[in-house]
Amino acid sequence: MTAFFEIHDPAFAGYVLHNAPVKRLATGFDWAEGPVWFGDLQCLLFSDIPNNRILRWTEDGLTTFRQPSNYANGHTRDRQGRLISCQHGTRSVTRTEWDGTITPLADHFDGKPLNSPNDVIVAPDGAIWFTDPHYGIASDYEGFKAPQDLPCQVYRLDPSGRLQAVISDMACPNGLAFSPDGTRLYVADTGRVGHQDPQHIRAFDMANGLPTNGRIFHTIDQGCADGIRCDSDGNLWSSAGDGVHCIAPDGHLMGKILVPEVVSNLCFGGRAKHRLFITATTSLYSVILNRKGVQQP
Ligand code: MG
Repeated sequence: MTAFFEIHDPAFAGYVLHNAPVKRLATGFDWAEGPVWFGDLQCLLFSDIPNNRILRWTEDGLTTFRQPSNYANGHTRDRQGRLISCQHGTRSVTRTEWDGTITPLADHFDGKPLNSPNDVIVAPDGAIWFTDPHYGIASDYEGFKAPQDLPCQVYRLDPSGRLQAVISDMACPNGLAFSPDGTRLYVADTGRVGHQDPQHIRAFDMANGLPTNGRIFHTIDQGCADGIRCDSDGNLWSSAGDGVHCIAPDGHLMGKILVPEVVSNLCFGGRAKHRLFITATTSLYSVILNRKGVQQP
């Protein structure tokens, strides 16, 4: 196996391709985050949070998609394919309509401003799930420093517009992902700024549309898990300090993709959803895998 991969379970050798390199596609960012693939447009959007911009990568190169971006962080697409974004600057989750207008979807809970929505996914029923840690208001680096009025929670935004706190017992929830069959939710906890909080990925069983039975699923051995995504076999691919870690549904480490910068987030894309795009500190990387992502669309 090449220097790009580390095999921890022999099965992982079949998940990667020995002649597919980890390629650096672009660099020069301060903290790249929030990759989202648009297969219909053959492009990847991602955030460069401190520089207040969203970038657009295609095989032809890099352009600016939106600047200022209200310090956008994580992105996803809804079931209609529209861009859903977490914005630190407005402390909100927004939707970009097909005509380019931006619709605020959630910015308050319980009469108080959200902290700084970080990462977001959309459930099969169209509900938008997002995390709300305090990183975007803890300093002026990735947003605007401000007092924190709400605990760091996970929210579910119903298609009707009702906002509900669904996980309230994590220190600082960050990346999140559903298993392919929708029966399980994974949430990464990166801990509060200035606290010695545990950092791990938790798993929840979905029952009647809500997460229950939260337990520690996996603890990354290098750095911590920020953004996470599932492949079609239910393996969880997690950002880590030394690259991307692949974790089996039973929680054991399958292997690693080694990346020379701290990884913040990742998403599957490309012709067959078999290309993993990786945002890592100052750069964007990709690698073709022998696995497919499950995110929709
Ligand atoms: Mg994040």
